[in-house]
Amino acid sequence: MAELTRRDLLGTAALVGGWFALAGDTALGQAPPARPQGATGGPYTLPALPFGYADLEPYIDAQTVKLHHDIHHAGYVRNANAAIAELGRVRQIGGQEVRQVRALTDRLAFNLAGHLLHTIYWSNMTRDGGGRPEPDSAIGKMIRRDFGSFDAFAGQFQAAAQQVQGSGWGILAYEPTARRLLVLQAEKHQNLAVWAAVPLLVLDVWEHAYYLRYQNKRSSYIKAFMNVVNWKNVDQRLRAATGAA
Ligand code: MN
Repeated sequence: MAELTRRDLLGTAALVGGWFALAGDTALGQAPPARPQGATGGPYTLPALPFGYADLEPYIDAQTVKLHHDIHHAGYVRNANAAIAELGRVRQIGGQEVRQVRALTDRLAFNLAGHLLHTIYWSNMTRDGGGRPEPDSAIGKMIRRDFGSFDAFAGQFQAAAQQVQGSGWGILAYEPTARRLLVLQAEKHQNLAVWAAVPLLVLDVWEHAYYLRYQNKRSSYIKAFMNVVNWKNVDQRLRAATGAA
């Protein structure tokens, strides 16, 4: 799992093959693109969903999952690949072109953070999810140690997601310097990032993540999300981050 997490963080997860497995598993009756977007255009690739579009019903609807993954996430992958290629190009040319580095770095930060957070978000959810982590799991123990109780954690996490200003994320992260869990927020994808903190559980609160089903009721979507959390995945991510995998 350490390898998987490291790859996720580097944004080069080679999760390509699943597209074809997914093709027979779409509730909406439309096959995904024949090739993952970005696969030929750079180092970043759109990962296959680890579930069918309708598998998170009724909590997260199939149409939202399909648009979110196939259009929004694919766009971040495409634009991250374009930004990193363009950065390389202007640095090689030098001269006046170097003036573009600031804007291109901003574009890479936004799109690559978007790609990586979405990749974690999909893996964080499952149709058999929800509830609480196993009490004896690494994540179960650390949540109790750092927040006092699961309910205290869940309250902080949901409040952080609810209070994101504009578009962004609620995040449970492992901070390796203090060796503790933190509840964080991200605005857009990259703003408020804490360097070196490893995201374990991420909740997308951009309107594209919930508006079709929940309209303006972000809090209803946040509550619903807690019913699909894949705590085994969160536990694996923590064990990889702490080197205990
Ligand atoms: Mn999103």
